[in-house]
Amino acid sequence: MTNGTGAEVVVDLDAIAANTAVLRERVGRPLMAVVKADGYGHGLVPAARATLVGGADQLGVAVLDEALALRAAGITAPVLAWLHGPGADFTAALAADVEVSVNAAWGLAEVVAAARATGRTARLHLFVDTGLSREGAPMAEWPGLVDAAARAQGDGDVAVVGVWSHMAYADAPAHPTIAAQVRVFEEAIALARAAGLTEARCHLANSAATVALPGTWFDMVRPGIAVYGLDPLGGNAADHGLRPAMTVRARVALTKRVAAGAGVSYGHTYATAAETTLALVPAGYADGVPRAGGNRAPVLAAGRQRTIAGRVCMDQFVVDVGDDPVAPGDEVVLWGPGSDGEPTAQQWADAVDTIHYELVTRIGGRFTRRYVGSAGAV
Ligand SMILES: *Cc1c(COP(=O)(O)O)cnc(C)c1O
Repeated sequence: MTNGTGAEVVVDLDAIAANTAVLRERVGRPLMAVVKADGYGHGLVPAARATLVGGADQLGVAVLDEALALRAAGITAPVLAWLHGPGADFTAALAADVEVSVNAAWGLAEVVAAARATGRTARLHLFVDTGLSREGAPMAEWPGLVDAAARAQGDGDVAVVGVWSHMAYADAPAHPTIAAQVRVFEEAIALARAAGLTEARCHLANSAATVALPGTWFDMVRPGIAVYGLDPLGGNAADHGLRPAMTVRARVALTKRVAAGAGVSYGHTYATAAETTLALVPAGYADGVPRAGGNRAPVLAAGRQRTIAGRVCMDQFVVDVGDDPVAPGDEVVLWGPGSDGEPTAQQWADAVDTIHYELVTRIGGRFTRRYVGSAGAV
């Protein structure tokens, strides 16, 4: 099935499985594959299945709905959902056997209430802030939180199966905050153990730490972007044995010869230098192609990489291919593994001043998503 233009996001499930296997093998301990945000734009359920084929021990998502979608698809592997607001439906989480994370006394109280209402024991991860200043409990509140969780565990309402934190600077492997966060994490673990929470698996490492920082691996690692084959350190994924799983491609919708000096696309921010051929590509910012890519981002068209000519519009953009042959229906690749001359997501990220995470999670809109490879396919 196509959307009428042939624009598609192709996801290689075998690459996701192979990347997971490479990482799992390297760390030699349990791995939680992070499949939040629709599997980083690769498709929640197919990506999750592929990581499980590759040996992931558990799945991680941000919000409860993502975890429930995995369950609805029949995935029975352990799943952690970690980002909840007041009033989150922990009853549904418990009924679906979803592990949840807590970072404050009020959140723990809500989980305990749901456990009592359902008669189930909540599998709980306690999230501590070791220096990111984001969603963990501050160290000042940590002793109170672990004591309350230990009491709830004694009552049979919760089983604390995880103690965890998240890193600020793992993509800069020599940064001094890394050692500082590890020290605080170890302190937090000691406090949790002293409170009687001795069964918890401790986990800290995201992709960058999984790839570069063995001292952060603890009992489990938690990579996301690396599973999809992108280098969390912004370099070459192949250096880590990883293969990008996503290719974004479209088909030329129209070609035309124009004279020298023709202004191209809104605002005429590009003008042809000589008589030339323009190719119209039917994908735009409504589909997640960054508008900032105008006159900056590369695509593979008519045999080589070229910069987008003029502004990216809502539905389309233009490429100037000079005198090279091009015809409607010809393929244009925005990004992919880079192995066939196409740009990489990292190249795009550099061109539009963002990170590849943002590009792959936002691409979508009217692109058709197509899966190749057999890992986890149904
Ligand atoms: C998104 C996320 C991850 C995965 O991060 P990557 O950099 O993609 O590996 C791990 N842990 C938490 C808490 C996250 O929010």
